Amino acid sequence: MSRLQGKNVLITGASSGIGEACARHFAQAGSNLLLAARRKERLESLKQELESKHSIKVTTFELDVRVKAKVDAALQAFGDVDILVNNAGLVIGLDKLEDITEEAMDTMIDTNVKGLVFVTQAVLPGMRARNKGHVINIGSVAGQQAYGNGSIYCATKAAVASITRALMHETVDTAIRVSEINPGLVETEFSVIRFRGDKDKADSVYKGLEPLNGDDIAETVIFVAGRPDHVNIAEMLVFPTNQA
Ligand code: NDP
Repeated sequence: MSRLQGKNVLITGASSGIGEACARHFAQAGSNLLLAARRKERLESLKQELESKHSIKVTTFELDVRVKAKVDAALQAFGDVDILVNNAGLVIGLDKLEDITEEAMDTMIDTNVKGLVFVTQAVLPGMRARNKGHVINIGSVAGQQAYGNGSIYCATKAAVASITRALMHETVDTAIRVSEINPGLVETEFSVIRFRGDKDKADSVYKGLEPLNGDDIAETVIFVAGRPDHVNIAEMLVFPTNQA
């Protein structure tokens, strides 16, 4: 029997890309799912598909991770979370530092950093009370290797790395595990969103390489989550073969 069978898994940003792929893989492993994102209709059709294929319970909720009060209220209603996959995240364009608007900066920081913290804050007391649980943060290679026109996005992902490591220290005397998975180039909606919908620019990033897909990262998440309780994979960097 899979170690993930019957676990309650909360995935933020489950309406597309890596989060959606994680939902499919945890469902395959027999986990019950709490799926969160702003696009509720996408979550609903995913729920229908997964519940028809697997003997699991899927709960969906429309959630903007930037709104702390809503995060708290939604998660109180859903009880114990065994595994949290903090995946919701975005880039608003890729601009030179002097061209970044305050609005774009706020959106990235509020979603990628504050949102991740809000969700973790809502889930962690329950994990501490039960002395078990696993927080898996989706960071990025961008948190380790900053690139031009990516200053704020890279900074948010560097923040995710620091938050992950700090939380690991804060839970070191508990059975709670804390992990970070850092993808390289993954082809998802994010690929086009980051160039404000310019598909040609998005495609040019993948010249000379085969990008990862959501399943590649979801398989990594499943591997990390599925280790025995005494094993914590602190960090993983996952690249397409031709990215360095
Ligand atoms: P997608 O754009 O496909 O998915 C992003 C998800 O985040 C969506 O489900 C979106 O849902 C959700 N989201 C965005 N803002 C919010 C919000 N305020 N509240 C709740 N949910 C939100 O991109 P990916 O799957 O590629 O991205 C997933 C994660 O992977 C991100 O954290 C990203 O930074 C990271 N990553 C991606 C890489 C890539 O190359 N694609 C590389 C490295 C890391 P909705 O719009 O419905 O709210």
